[in-house]
Amino acid sequence: MERGANRIVPARYPALMASLGASAGLALLILVGGLLLKGTVVLPWFIPVMDLGAVICLLPTAILAGIDAYLRRDSRSLPVAGVAVGVSLLWIAHFVLFPGDIPGIAANGDSFASETTSWLFLGINFLMPVALAVALTHTARPVSRPGVAIVMTAGIALAAGLVACAAAGSLAAIPLHTVQPDGSFSWIVSAVGVAGLLPAMMAFALIAAGRQGDVRIAGGVLAALTFSAIESIALLFLQPRFSPVWYALHALAFLPAVALLAGQLQIYVVSVRAEQTARADADRVAAQLRAGFDLAVEMATQVDTEPLIRRLLEGARSLVDAERATLLRIEGEVGVVESGVDTGARPAPAGVRNPLTAVRSEVGLPIVAEAVRSRRTVISGPYRVDGLAPDHAASLIGLRHTMVVPLVLRGEVIAAMILSRRHDPSFTEVDSDRLRELTVISALLLRNVRLLDSAQEGSAAKSRFLNMAAHELRTPLSVISGYVDMLLGGTFGELDGTMAPPLRILSDKTMELSRQVEKLLTASRLDASTGASSVQEVDMALLASEAVKRVQPRADLMGAEIAVQLPAEAILVAADPDDVSLVLDNLLNNALTYSQPPPRISVSVQLGSECELRVEDRGIGIPMEQAERIFEQFHRVENPDFGYPAGTGLGLYISRRLAERNSGSLVLERSQAGKGSVFLLTLPASQARESSSM
Ligand code: ADP
Repeated sequence: MERGANRIVPARYPALMASLGASAGLALLILVGGLLLKGTVVLPWFIPVMDLGAVICLLPTAILAGIDAYLRRDSRSLPVAGVAVGVSLLWIAHFVLFPGDIPGIAANGDSFASETTSWLFLGINFLMPVALAVALTHTARPVSRPGVAIVMTAGIALAAGLVACAAAGSLAAIPLHTVQPDGSFSWIVSAVGVAGLLPAMMAFALIAAGRQGDVRIAGGVLAALTFSAIESIALLFLQPRFSPVWYALHALAFLPAVALLAGQLQIYVVSVRAEQTARADADRVAAQLRAGFDLAVEMATQVDTEPLIRRLLEGARSLVDAERATLLRIEGEVGVVESGVDTGARPAPAGVRNPLTAVRSEVGLPIVAEAVRSRRTVISGPYRVDGLAPDHAASLIGLRHTMVVPLVLRGEVIAAMILSRRHDPSFTEVDSDRLRELTVISALLLRNVRLLDSAQEGSAAKSRFLNMAAHELRTPLSVISGYVDMLLGGTFGELDGTMAPPLRILSDKTMELSRQVEKLLTASRLDASTGASSVQEVDMALLASEAVKRVQPRADLMGAEIAVQLPAEAILVAADPDDVSLVLDNLLNNALTYSQPPPRISVSVQLGSECELRVEDRGIGIPMEQAERIFEQFHRVENPDFGYPAGTGLGLYISRRLAERNSGSLVLERSQAGKGSVFLLTLPASQARESSSM
């Protein structure tokens, strides 16, 4: 029975069977009622009302069927549209002629109109099931120009209707006397009735044989055909006009129109329901995505591995309503517990190592190994871990359902998450789908924090090494510089003229080396965040003029000019004076170092909402694209023309860190190659000054 998606298979379409049952039941009730009741009641309005009722149902049916064909661009509703147009024309003609008092056509007394209406009725009775049988077995096809197809269908239906009307008129002209003078009907009526039964029976036989038709329009058409078939049976028992059977017959003739309309409306109901279901599905998927996304965003802010993994486990656990979640790091054939969470028992302890194949489902399937191998989620019942410590194994008791989700990055499984429930139902594809986006992002985040961890470890190792090296250098350096000073001071005897100059160079270079070693130590102390600053109220103008004094001997040696612009009053900032002095020394020494002789430098201090100190030089300048990089550790600007004066690339790094440690900032404000640079140190003005000036 179940061949082809479009086949009308009774077992699969209970709604269809319900519509068939309901229409057959109602039709038989009307027929049996008509047959059992006796007597004659003349209701002159009955036929016009039935006729009009049919037209009122059929015209919207035609419109709805047309819209359906137009919007879906397929032909499935076109036969219904055709039936509705053609048959409504016949009903209109029937309405106009019955009871046959239209002037001009009432030839032979009323008998012409009477005969015509009778033939029209019989025409409807025969043509309707034929057209419905076609509609029922019609296979929907795509229509490239639906507008044209609709107009053509309506045109053919109208033409067929007109031909049928003309045929009814012509037949009325032949004295067949379907309506006898006493009001009863001749055998011809019964014969046409039987003829009308034939197409209906054929259509039913085709459906029973599972012949293809469009199941979506079949509900209404099948019900219409049932009314039509039982109406044909009623024609076999027809009694004179206004008898109960006659009334039953006309009611049965009207009902196919109602069924067709209901069928078309049903299509819209189904469409609206489908839209609602689709929207609900979309909302559910969107909510799921949002939950996963929110969690991913939250996780992305984590830079440490442990909190990130805990957030992942907690989030995944609640997304799929699990009680226990464990993350295993995959190291070849071994799984190492990174972390675990559990709402009711001891979570898996971090660091436990087990072969991947040790984690097995009830029936012995190695679920983690399988998830890693296939890179797909594996769903199973309870699980055990071979060779587990008894207290750890105890925490797995009572777990009823398990899902192992691999975290895959660039085709490689880097971790696996085991999620378990102590309650029913078991995990499904839906749960696995819920975690899909999350696991993709988690794999990425996990890799990133691990990289960050190793980078931080590397950086810490580097700082430790520099710190150690600087300490090791400092002691022998101070011994050397002490001896050089003693030699220069004549402690070991009077210097002859040839010894003094090289000793002075030795002394200078030793001091330079000491400064670099001090910088290394300061930088490594800053990295380790040791050496707290002691913030106090200091006068920036004073600090600046003292820094200039300290650098003055070197400036004099180089023939440099240092212009100082300081306000008359004190400029109070809250900062550590040692930190600020170190920054100023670095900036002034750099200005001297990176200038062609004779250097021209200016130092100025200004007070706005904050205190701004500028050191300006007319030196070699710095390309502005390096404006940030010069503040990185060990970064030095490539300048083969100028050469590379002794330096470590640490001065500006230290200076910026010190400024920031004092709630300030240090930037390269502007610079131009060959023209010079301006460094700007900003520090917060002292609160005391602000409040005293208020
Ligand atoms: P160092 O001077 O020890 O190399 P710094 O961190 O103080 O380290 O400076 C980093 C780099 O920035 C220097 O190597 C130099 O290339 C550049 N630089 C710093 N100050 C100036 C300046 N005033 N003019 C031109 N270049 C400078």
